[in-house]
Amino acid sequence: MTIENEAGAAPERPSSDAASIAIDGPVASGKSAVGSRLARHLGYRLVDTGMMYRAITCLALDEGTDLHDEAALEALGATANIDIKPGPAGDPDAARVLVNGSDVTGRLRSPEVGEAVSLVSRVPGVRRAMVAIQREIANEGRVVMVGRDIGTVVLPDAPLKAYLDASAAERARRRHAELQAAGRTETLEVVGAELAMRDDIDSKRDASPLRPAHDALVIDTDKMTIQQVVDAILEAMSCS
Ligand code: C5P
Repeated sequence: MTIENEAGAAPERPSSDAASIAIDGPVASGKSAVGSRLARHLGYRLVDTGMMYRAITCLALDEGTDLHDEAALEALGATANIDIKPGPAGDPDAARVLVNGSDVTGRLRSPEVGEAVSLVSRVPGVRRAMVAIQREIANEGRVVMVGRDIGTVVLPDAPLKAYLDASAAERARRRHAELQAAGRTETLEVVGAELAMRDDIDSKRDASPLRPAHDALVIDTDKMTIQQVVDAILEAMSCS
C-alpha cells in the first residue's frame, strides 16, 4: 500500500478502531514479539510503527538532514512516500518498508538508525505524517498496531490497549540477546545505554510522549514468557 502525505494534513480518526489492538511500551518490552504472535493467532495484520519512524530516519541520514532541524525533518516526513508491504498471509514479520521507492528494511535495525530515530520521532510534524498513515492502515481493520502512542493518540478508541513494561536491566538483556542471535557484537553496556537514551527522549518529548493510555491493560513482562503475555491480552479481549 502506498500513501502519499500532504503537508499539514490533519489525520482523520479511523472509523474502525473497533477492530484493532493497540500495543505500546518502551524499547524491548516485548511489543513486537507479542504483537506478532497475537497477529498470527487472530489472523490480523501486524503494523510495527517503529519501522516507519526508522524508515524516515534512514531517509534523513541518506539526505544528510540535520537531525536538530525540525522544519527540515517535518518537510521530509510530509513529502516522503512510505510504502509498507505486508508480509504474505500468516507471516506478520515479513513486512517490507520502502521509502521513496527504495527498500530500507535491512537497515531499519542498524546502530546508526537506532541512535538517530528518537531525535526524528520527537518532531511533531514528523509524527503528524506518520499518524496519518497509521490511521489510514487501521481503517482497513483487523490490525495489531505496535508503538509508543497507539493507545494514547493513534487509536484511542481501540477496544483493547495493552502497555507492556519490564525493568531496564531485563529489557537490555533481551535486546542484547536478540542482537547477538543476529550476529551483532555490541556489548550489554552499549545496548543498555542506547535503550536508556531512547527511552529518555521518547518519554520526555512534548509530542505524544511514551505513556500508557488511561484505560490500558498494563503488563509487567519481566518474569513472563511471550505466550503468557499473549494469553493475558487474549483473556482481556474475551472479557471486554
Ligand atoms: O519500536 P522501535 O524501537 O523500533 O521504535 C523506534 C523508535 O521510533 C522509538 O524509540 C521511538 O522514538 C519511535 N517511535 C515513536 N512512536 C511510535 C513508534 C516508534 O515515537 N508509535
